[in-house]
Amino acid sequence: MNDQWKYDLRDSLEAVEDLVRRVGLSPDEAERVRDVIARYPMRITPHVLKTIRYKDDPIWLQVVPTTEEMDISDDMQDDPLNEEGDMVVPHLVHRYPDRVLLFVTNQCPIYCRFCTRKRFVGSPGGTITPEAIDAVAEYIRSHAEIRDIIFSGGDPLLLVDPLLERILSTLRSIPHLEIIRIGSRVPGTLPSRITPELCAMLKKYHPLYMNLHFNHPNEITVEVAEACGRLADVGIPLGSQTVLLKGVNDDPDTMKQLMQKLLRIRVKPYYLYQADLVTGTQQFRTPVETGLNILRALHGHTSGMAIPRYVIDAPGGGGKITVVPPEFVLEMNSREVILKNYEDQVYRYPQVQQAPSGQGSYAPCGGAAPTEDSGRPIPVQRLPR
Ligand SMILES: *Cc1c(COP(=O)(O)O)cnc(C)c1O
Ligand code: SF4
Repeated sequence: MNDQWKYDLRDSLEAVEDLVRRVGLSPDEAERVRDVIARYPMRITPHVLKTIRYKDDPIWLQVVPTTEEMDISDDMQDDPLNEEGDMVVPHLVHRYPDRVLLFVTNQCPIYCRFCTRKRFVGSPGGTITPEAIDAVAEYIRSHAEIRDIIFSGGDPLLLVDPLLERILSTLRSIPHLEIIRIGSRVPGTLPSRITPELCAMLKKYHPLYMNLHFNHPNEITVEVAEACGRLADVGIPLGSQTVLLKGVNDDPDTMKQLMQKLLRIRVKPYYLYQADLVTGTQQFRTPVETGLNILRALHGHTSGMAIPRYVIDAPGGGGKITVVPPEFVLEMNSREVILKNYEDQVYRYPQVQQAPSGQGSYAPCGGAAPTEDSGRPIPVQRLPR
């Protein structure tokens, strides 16, 4: 039954009529999103459908289209991260010094209504061709500084095993490419895809990492836990990526539950993303303060293992920038650092005495290097609470 995932995919909801027959929308409600689906495809796997508990619940909101997706706003763009601008050969984005992002397909198990790549997911003909794979490999071969590649899309695990293996083996033949990563929402939405055959194939290409997309604790079902277990059992380190979404996970309790549940299925929280400024996703936006409050509720109150890095992917292609509550570091100068802990108590950490010659002087992370004028405070940005 290892082709079960193909039947599950075929059995997914994609049409307006499916919303009436299987989700329970009235014909009028369903008719209103006909244009939305024509522009931004819908897909809901049988597994995800099963996890919807009521109308507008945190799973429903992620997958059922709304007319708000047609709203336009000056702040929002089709490609806010300027990925097309950093595309060096078709399918390959090279933005950071030592790693690249590869769009292997534009097909996904579900089409998340808030997707950053709404501009291209779900349309026909978006899967990488053998010729394009060769062009990508050629580019990487001639750039020795690239030591890390992330397969993304779309969802790489929707490729059939032979095509996925073809890409993996082609790239594995490049000696300086140290690690391969796969970003996927498949284990959490189409767990039947994680077959023993797929796992046995993947394990030949280590070091291989996976970052899985999860946004709500209800996504972690028994089937999903088992699928993640199969991946972890073949030695693939699993991380998670979560998008902060209004109405889905924008409160500390939900987020804490999600992160702790992920650790129980051997998925280590990696990134929490502030929502990108993507046309048609305005309704999911939260203030940055919401994310900071979630971090305040996690830090110290639960294990550091359960805390993802909260990042804003800078509009225009500036890349991911980590954001932390500013009051964690109240002040920093060459004599001391003033810190606040999770119980709001303030602590002083004395700096190491600087050697006069600059020998042994060391810039701490964040670039806030000790200055010559010893004792002068280095300004720390504050936000009103
Ligand atoms: C997120 C991203 C990466 C990977 O970033 P890491 O911080 O290494 O996970 C690489 N390239 C692009 C274009 C990205 O958006
Ligand atoms: S699975 Fe990922 S790429 Fe696909 S629609 Fe969802 S967020 Fe976008």
